[in-house]
Amino acid sequence: MTILKPEGTAGHSPHVPEPQADSQIITWRPATHAEDRRRVLRWTCQCKPVVYYLITAGGRGYIERTAPGQATVQSPRMRYAPIADLWELLLLGRAR
Ligand SMILES: [Zn+2]
Repeated sequence: MTILKPEGTAGHSPHVPEPQADSQIITWRPATHAEDRRRVLRWTCQCKPVVYYLITAGGRGYIERTAPGQATVQSPRMRYAPIADLWELLLLGRAR
């Protein structure tokens, strides 16, 4: 699987489409930084106010969402394969 290679060149990061009506609901929680180290693998285009990041930390991964005037939130921690799948769903408008 190549999805976890770092990516996100300026101006080439993806835009997140409007979520579809039947999209999977992500259980967003207030951001914590429980792990000593984290690595941002991917991110969505920063021309949008809401930016999502795919992050690995402590052997697992999660998605972080930042928005102006809002607290940063994170998805549940997951193993690599499910979090990579969830990231793809997000980019397809099939998770929110
Ligand atoms: Zn953009």
